[in-house]
Amino acid sequence: MTQLQAITYNQVMNIKILGCSGNYVGRHRTTCFLIDGSLLIDAGTVTDSLPRKDLSKIKRVLVTHTHMDHLKGLFPFVDEIAMMGGHSIELVSAAPVLDIITNNLLNNLIWPDFTVIPSAMDAIIKLRDIPLEKPSHLDGIAVKPILMTHTVYTVGYVVRQQNGEGFMFTADTGPTKRFWELAHDEKNIHFIMADVSFPDRLSNLALISGHMTPSILMDMIDRYDLGDRTFYVTHIKPIFGREITREFVRSGRPNIRILRQGQTLEI
Ligand SMILES: [Zn+2]
Ligand SMILES: [Zn+2]
Repeated sequence: MTQLQAITYNQVMNIKILGCSGNYVGRHRTTCFLIDGSLLIDAGTVTDSLPRKDLSKIKRVLVTHTHMDHLKGLFPFVDEIAMMGGHSIELVSAAPVLDIITNNLLNNLIWPDFTVIPSAMDAIIKLRDIPLEKPSHLDGIAVKPILMTHTVYTVGYVVRQQNGEGFMFTADTGPTKRFWELAHDEKNIHFIMADVSFPDRLSNLALISGHMTPSILMDMIDRYDLGDRTFYVTHIKPIFGREITREFVRSGRPNIRILRQGQTLEI
């Protein structure tokens, strides 16, 4: 093995769960995962979870969709790095997601248009749209967006480090097809983070609002033959935390775990 191969094989991707709740109440923070200190997946919580020295290391925010529980941390974060000076970030997603952000949020009404501040050439937010179902390389990390089934345009992701090992994230989604087909076929996936917002008794609300319940997720797992995969449940509405946990415990499936805020995963 060459030295370069040894370095490559020993790589570890570090995924810090800053927030993984379905609402922002009490100590619960909403979706935001920090990858290797420099890439955020969603921005449900940023400045309220990280010290200033860590903010300056973040180069990119990969966005799944435009619901506020996934974006609201972006605004104080951008304000802070603007005040710190000399730092810009790349906002990365499928083009329709970026369009919603620029038309409805960075429109000088809700928030200043940081894609032209201080100038268009040297803006604090740079936009980068990436194609569906093709890997795009963000430094050493490859991300592949997959269209999900939610109430707004939403993409889930396959995220891989340079050695090809990776994980998948459903983002917010109800029952869907393409993501689970790919989950069946993708190799070297260590785990899948999946949205379960509501308990089984609220399955109608889950379907209307584009989320899953424990039974819906388990149905997807069985239908797409994913029983050998490890799952982390995310986006639980805090008020239903115990009920949803009980439902998974009752299911007796050891491959399904609950994602915890503050937890660090490594692959
Ligand atoms: Zn959503
Ligand atoms: Zn959400």
